[in-house]
Amino acid sequence: MELKENIYAVLFESIQEGLILVDGGGVIVQNNSTSEQMFGYSNGGLVGEKIEVLVPSRTRKEHVNHRDTYHKKPVKRSMGSAMKLNGQRKDGSVFPVEVSLNPFKDDNGDHFVVALVSDVTIRRESQEKLEQMTQSLEQKVKERTAELRESEQLYKSIARNFPGGVISIFDRSFSYLFAEGQGLYELGIETEDLIGINYLERLSSETKEKVKEELEKVFSGEFRNFEVEVDKRAYSLNAVPLLNDNDEIDKILVVEKNITAQREMANKLEQNLIKEKDLNEMKSRFVSMASHEFRTPLTTINSSASLILKYHEKENYDKLDKHVARIKNAVRNLTSILNDFLSLEKLESGKITTTFQEQDLVKLIDEILDEMSGNLKSGQKLINNASSNYTYATDAQLFRNIVINLLSNAIKYSDENDIIEIDIDDQKDFCLISVKDHGIGIPQKDQERMFSRFFRAGNVTNIEGTGLGLNIVERYLELLDGSLSFESKEGEGTTFFIKLPKKQINV
Ligand code: ATP
Ligand code: MG
Repeated sequence: MELKENIYAVLFESIQEGLILVDGGGVIVQNNSTSEQMFGYSNGGLVGEKIEVLVPSRTRKEHVNHRDTYHKKPVKRSMGSAMKLNGQRKDGSVFPVEVSLNPFKDDNGDHFVVALVSDVTIRRESQEKLEQMTQSLEQKVKERTAELRESEQLYKSIARNFPGGVISIFDRSFSYLFAEGQGLYELGIETEDLIGINYLERLSSETKEKVKEELEKVFSGEFRNFEVEVDKRAYSLNAVPLLNDNDEIDKILVVEKNITAQREMANKLEQNLIKEKDLNEMKSRFVSMASHEFRTPLTTINSSASLILKYHEKENYDKLDKHVARIKNAVRNLTSILNDFLSLEKLESGKITTTFQEQDLVKLIDEILDEMSGNLKSGQKLINNASSNYTYATDAQLFRNIVINLLSNAIKYSDENDIIEIDIDDQKDFCLISVKDHGIGIPQKDQERMFSRFFRAGNVTNIEGTGLGLNIVERYLELLDGSLSFESKEGEGTTFFIKLPKKQINV
């Protein structure tokens, strides 16, 4: 054998792939042992066989056609990787192959093809495995994405339905990354309006600083809970830091809740509680005061009654009148204390209602003066200086109580023979009714506290009274949209002014 042929023979045998030399008729002329092992043939068992024996039975026919076509126009080419070619072993079993065809002509011009065949079972398997893995991975990614989208949707709809508030996420510059909640929709704001907007810019200048300070603490890792007021609305804010994959805080979650209604409710409850406490306190003060104040008139009544009895026995009727008058006066005092208390109780519990009706004030005052004349000290005189017809829309009952209170003070705090004058000053939008006396007056230092409940000036300790009258008058006037004021000089006298607005009454 020549050296060249020797080299070929060595190459032929040592090569990893199966090598099969086929002639123009598709008959195997030569092959290496690798190809025999690959296809399960014994040594030399393939030579003389048609190449088709190595092709799976069901594709043999096709293969013959392919081979004919190829033979007419042979080109070097590889097959199998994309085509998924299979080979068939002698025992009929099939396995994946890759084939490359190399045509050539011998010196006689006869056509031959060298087929290089590789068993790609392992490669094909791993390829398929890889494909499967890729597919299942892709499927998983798809599912996960859908899940994420779903959970995102879920969070969004939870946030969107968050009642009476807003759930937001801010970045370090306090710009909105996310915002949802009924609180937004109540204000007519859409999520899209806020994304990218600076949250602090939406706040008033007073609240901005506070909120910024608090939220900066959240960016440094604290959980904060605080309240702010915006446009008379009260909000409670809960803010927590959000960590990124590197465990850094780059966002914060803020839950804002509108607590205006709760706040108002709490305020109302507190006010009611205070009112109730006040009322209770007033009642107990009144009871202790009344038991003290009741003693004097009751003693007077008791002693006058005994004296009446005594004079009656002695048939000394001259002095009876005096004691009857004393008893009457004492009863009047008691009644006035009780009336004060009832008025206050009614005022406190809001039971007093007003009925505005046109009133001829001068006539009304005349009636009151007539009523009060029985209470005058000896020589005292009540004078009504108002003469024209002043018609006013007011509540007659409350007006009467007010004037009676002021007149009884004027009588009580004036001496015998003093005159008490009442007048009306009619102005464009209001009228001033004045009650003027020339009595003991009110010391300057006490004047400020005159309308406080139970307050009595320092110069009246010897005169009976509870210190409730003016407080009641002032509150009655509030109900009439009016007000009370006075001028006084100790030892000279006092003038009280009732200011009443001119009211339109809707009939
Ligand atoms: P009451 O509850 O029985 O009326 P009171 O007269 O003491 O008791 P107010 O009518 O509220 O209570 O008056 C408060 C205080 O104001 C009086 O105690 C008195 O010191 C002072 N005062 C009120 N009216 C006059 C007046 N016309 N002249 C002087 N002092 C007055
Ligand atoms: Mg009084």
